Amino acid sequence: MLIDSHCHLTYEPLTAMRGEVLLRAAEAGVTQMISIGTDLADSRAAIELAAGHANVFASSGVHPHQAGKTEAGWEAELRALAADTNVVAIGETGLDYHYDFSPRDRQRAVFEGQLALATDTGKPVVIHCREAHADVMAVLAGFTGLKRVVFHCFTGTLAEAREILDRGYWISLTGVVTFKNSRELQEVARFLPPDRIMIETDSPYLSPEPVRSRRPNEPALVVYVARRVAELRGVAFEEFAALTRANTIRFFDLRLD
Ligand SMILES: [Zn+2]
Repeated sequence: MLIDSHCHLTYEPLTAMRGEVLLRAAEAGVTQMISIGTDLADSRAAIELAAGHANVFASSGVHPHQAGKTEAGWEAELRALAADTNVVAIGETGLDYHYDFSPRDRQRAVFEGQLALATDTGKPVVIHCREAHADVMAVLAGFTGLKRVVFHCFTGTLAEAREILDRGYWISLTGVVTFKNSRELQEVARFLPPDRIMIETDSPYLSPEPVRSRRPNEPALVVYVARRVAELRGVAFEEFAALTRANTIRFFDLRLD
């Protein structure tokens, strides 16, 4: 049994085939999933979805790509959304200097606003960091009251992973770890301590090998991520599945019934 700790069930093509997606997840042993919000409307959609499905949880956040589009009052709105019982985290939030879709000062301000919200609510934070490691670490250092922090879809270096772990933060791996050219990331996957690792699809993006080029990603395919990381770590699939499942429940404080 596995949990997909980060997916976007509100994105196409997952929305259009949601029934099948949830069915295939169940068939693959993916018992829960967290649909991550990327702006106010998307967070609202994730919350609605979670309300209708006992095995779907939501997060509420503003992705750095959307930071430039926030309007006055966004923080109060996000705070109201975060109060929903199905919201298990703040984010995804952070800095993206690869695409730079939002001005960097706006990215930073919106990131800081969400870290303040996470501090106030005691909810964990899901970080999106792309080519912005030093600045993300610097901003995070200003918030000492954060409960738990995960760098989602980690694709950085071993040195960056060490810094993240030294701060007590977590790391989550996607299907990128299954790609043949991801040598350093595979090193990271071997090196991560067992109590600070999670896995995710980030679907509909980043479909893992061996189905990478054949189909869009979806929660059922987190099995391939688990299989590859277990292999890299030299542990049995079942053992690794149980470990990451327990970690995800602990990180997000999931209430399962
Ligand atoms: Zn994402």
